[in-house]
Amino acid sequence: MSDTRIRKIVIVGGGTAGWMTAAALGKLLGPNYAEIVLVESDEIGIVGVGEATIPQIGIFNRMLGLDENEFLRRTQGSFKLGIQFVDWGRKGHVYFHPFGPYGVDMEGVSFHAYWQRLHQLGDTHSVDAYSLQAMAAKENRFMRSIDAGPSPLSSIAYAFHFDAGLYARFLRDFAEARGVRRQEGKIVSVEQRSTDGFIEAVVLESGERLEGELFIDCSGFRGLLIEQTLKAGYEDWTHWLPCDRAVAVPCESAPAFTPYTRSTARDAGWQWRIPLQHRIGNGYVYSSDHISDDEAAATLLANLDGKPLADPRMLRFVTGRRKQAWVKNCVAIGLSSGFIEPLESTSIHLIQSGIAKLLQMFPDRTFPQADIDRFNRMTKREVEQVRDFIVLHYNATERDDTPFWDQVRTMDVPESLKEKYRLFKTTGRIFREDDELFNDTSWFAVMTGQGLTPERFDPVAEVLSLEETRARLAEIRSVMRTCADQMPGHADFIRNNCAA
Ligand SMILES: Cc1cc2nc3c(=O)[nH]c(=O)nc-3n(C[C@H](O)[C@H](O)[C@H](O)COP(=O)(O)OP(=O)(O)OC[C@H]3O[C@@H](n4cnc5c(N)ncnc54)[C@H](O)[C@@H]3O)c2cc1C
Repeated sequence: MSDTRIRKIVIVGGGTAGWMTAAALGKLLGPNYAEIVLVESDEIGIVGVGEATIPQIGIFNRMLGLDENEFLRRTQGSFKLGIQFVDWGRKGHVYFHPFGPYGVDMEGVSFHAYWQRLHQLGDTHSVDAYSLQAMAAKENRFMRSIDAGPSPLSSIAYAFHFDAGLYARFLRDFAEARGVRRQEGKIVSVEQRSTDGFIEAVVLESGERLEGELFIDCSGFRGLLIEQTLKAGYEDWTHWLPCDRAVAVPCESAPAFTPYTRSTARDAGWQWRIPLQHRIGNGYVYSSDHISDDEAAATLLANLDGKPLADPRMLRFVTGRRKQAWVKNCVAIGLSSGFIEPLESTSIHLIQSGIAKLLQMFPDRTFPQADIDRFNRMTKREVEQVRDFIVLHYNATERDDTPFWDQVRTMDVPESLKEKYRLFKTTGRIFREDDELFNDTSWFAVMTGQGLTPERFDPVAEVLSLEETRARLAEIRSVMRTCADQMPGHADFIRNNCAA
């Protein structure tokens, strides 16, 4: 049998995507399996603004075997229990999209069906009262899960905020310690095999030629290999997600160390606020059809918690997806594979998911087309499901006070989202598609938070009598309150465990 194993892997790009890929391949394949080289250019630099994550990053960290406290110390990291949305459904309204579930499902019926029933009968308890994460976030509390039996304290879902530049540096050290070689240099041309167009080598400005058998394109928005060389094509989603620019600026920390990301709707988009140990990351994501760059920067600078620590940085993007993330012997991971804007912090997760799928379908030098097709189909489905969830935030709004909000409120949304609306609008039902990233808790949080209300409650919520439902929900509220009271402050938790 001939040896067809991949012996040389070239990763193009050293941003978050490049170094996450290098760390994972370095750890799981190891230097004896294949030589791994990462090429990046200091002159070009990285996007470097991806600073908020979702809980799935814990799986990636555990796969690498990282010490979480060390990781937070090295990246000036903080904890995230969810996202607070300000002024989204309507001006003056605030809601929280927490990690982890609300309450508990009972008698095989989802918790939100019971909540909906009581709510429609006039009960005014906010859904936040049933989420430990939402309650703790409101009071700036945090702790990790403890062994407390069936208590919600045993399963506290959380993610992180971190400094993207420090994260790349941290993963670089990790990857280099596992045999990945970093090559500084700007790629000026790409060589393809004359017989079938497979990539053979990248050529640096210095004239050096880097040959490989598998190329991973982590070159960012430009898609140096996947698009500029292999012409994979791009599906533009600007008609559903019209924000196409961002201006970012860090500022000094504020006294309250919030364990959540804040997203505040603005006239032509929204502003993020991400608290780290040494600063707060801020940015205004906006539609250039509705506001100028100068106005966006001025709005951002007028809405900071403290003094800016740098000049505002402008970024441009086109929301959408690469039509094929894997072509021939090149796999696109990170921004080179597409970009859904950062409203629910999904980009880093999609990097992680791309790496996981690549490992699941890791090729040999014959590059079986069936695996490539499967990878592309799974990538497409995953990213379309995330897209629908993000579109929901813009479209399910009462806001019509600016041309931007009026446009997104009245736009035609994808058919897959229309179906979710139809199901929710009658009886408040939510169905998670297969292994869709955002589960029914997330859809419920955002649909309810944005102001959607079903015509009637789910009939199966009547499996419990009204008195029993009221008593059980009161009990859940009381348990959540008691648990939240036991949690220390976020600042104290970091000081005692992972201060940079
Ligand atoms: C405004 C904004 C906010 C965001 N916020 C979040 C967030 O909160 N959470 C989240 O999960 N994600 C977020 N993201 C996405 C996140 O920033 C990216 O997913 C992440 O940074 C990965 O980027 P990358 O590594 O793919 O590309 P980049 O960071 O652009 O890295 C590209 C690399 O390729 C190299 N390169 C390019 N061309 C060449 C060449 N010719 N020769 C050699 N090297 C080359 C560069 O030097 C660089 O090292 C945000 C994105 C934007 C735009």
